[in-house]
Amino acid sequence: MADADVVDGLAALDVAGKAMAEWAATPPRKRSELLTATYRALTERSEEVARLITLEMGKPLAEARGEVAYGAEFFRWFAEEAVRVEGRYNTAPAGGYRILTVPKPVGPCVFVTPWNFPLAMGARKIAPALAAGCTTITKPAAQTPLTMLFLARIMEEVGVPPGVVNVVTTRRAGEVVSALLADRRTRKLSFTGSTEVGRVLLRQAADNVLRTSMELGGNAALIVCADADLDVALDGAMVAKMRNIGESCIAANRIYVEEPVREEFTARFAKRMGALSVGHGLDDGVDVGALIDEASVAKIDELVADAVDRGARVLVGGERPDGPGYFYPPTVLVDVPEDARMLETEIFGPVAPIISFTSDDEVMAKANDTEHGLVGYVFTRDLQRALRFTEGLETGMVGINRGLISDPSAPFGGVKQSGIGREGSHEGILEYLDVTYAAIDLP
Ligand code: NAP
Repeated sequence: MADADVVDGLAALDVAGKAMAEWAATPPRKRSELLTATYRALTERSEEVARLITLEMGKPLAEARGEVAYGAEFFRWFAEEAVRVEGRYNTAPAGGYRILTVPKPVGPCVFVTPWNFPLAMGARKIAPALAAGCTTITKPAAQTPLTMLFLARIMEEVGVPPGVVNVVTTRRAGEVVSALLADRRTRKLSFTGSTEVGRVLLRQAADNVLRTSMELGGNAALIVCADADLDVALDGAMVAKMRNIGESCIAANRIYVEEPVREEFTARFAKRMGALSVGHGLDDGVDVGALIDEASVAKIDELVADAVDRGARVLVGGERPDGPGYFYPPTVLVDVPEDARMLETEIFGPVAPIISFTSDDEVMAKANDTEHGLVGYVFTRDLQRALRFTEGLETGMVGINRGLISDPSAPFGGVKQSGIGREGSHEGILEYLDVTYAAIDLP
């Protein structure tokens, strides 16, 4: 891989800056067509991209295919949004003059993306930015640069002009990104990654008062009420916990089950977790691939040991297998005490702590007792209960009787220290638009 230094990073900003005026002036329909062409090319080449994703980060091939479909959809969705950017014209309330609002692309954007969804996390930024008329520089995670380079090549092949989509691969993320943020030609930062790095980048972005979008860490509570359809709750919990091997910001990190159904839910969930097969992501029939690296496996091992030391019981898994590879088995823990570190840390792996609860107020307080606020999941057949949780959970998103909430047509994002801004939906394009307002005297 090319290992960019600061000079290379600034060279990318130079071309992104120079391409900006022409791209912003390109008719929206033309920009839209290039995004549609990207959607089609990604869909046609899905198998190649999926294989690359699995080789880079270890998720099973079926999940990598799912990521390609999900990532490609952002190009289709924002192709449709590109031609629907609108301003307003109205009479000022006091009369006498008119108010005109003109949306404009914010300018060259810097994107920093994580390794867990090497295609989709970039697509969620590049597609709306291009739709709005912005040029882009993406710095993918050092562990998964190939997928982003592949996407950039596809976009070049379908005819996206030079300078509009740039990718900078580097092992010196701190230095290169700092230099980009310190340069006044950069007008926007969108970051997906840990809250810890997000805080650092927000401080750096403050110097030039950059527009920022932050998609940060989560600590999702998944709540199973006694009146839930348990088949639905089990399916939802499996997806919310195990999608992407648990290496997802919206993964269920804490599973709260109401006391009357605790035993049945736990037994059935443990059985399903225990039946998953662990192995190389490219092999047939594998449900759980390798984790990203040694540090990740060691962290999960430590979190499980900490919970067990404090009194948790392991029902399934819980031991790192011998042999090569960064594998960790699907694990279910019960009787997890409140001070277990895994309840306040993003586990980012296939480990599910189950905790029982007896009242909605109690579980709501526990669910909200975290610096994060990305998503919560609730399983209940009682509409009023579902709505009370939706209103009471301090999160940007709620899954009601559903473990899968990601959708390019819905606004994805968090509150509290899980982030600022939304990706996808109509909100997604607004992140890349400034508004100029003109006051017009019309005697
Ligand atoms: P990370 O360590 O924060 O890294 C994310 C990106 O930031 C990588 O490209 C990384 O580059 C770069 N980076 C690291 N330090 C930097 C610095 N000082 N200056 C500039 N860039 C820097 O996160 P990760 O481990 O890759 O990803 C997992 C995290 O992402 C989890 O917390 C997860 O919840 C979060 N996430 C959130 C969402 C969401 O939508 N809210 C979605 C997916 C993931 P290197 O690879 O070179 O270190």
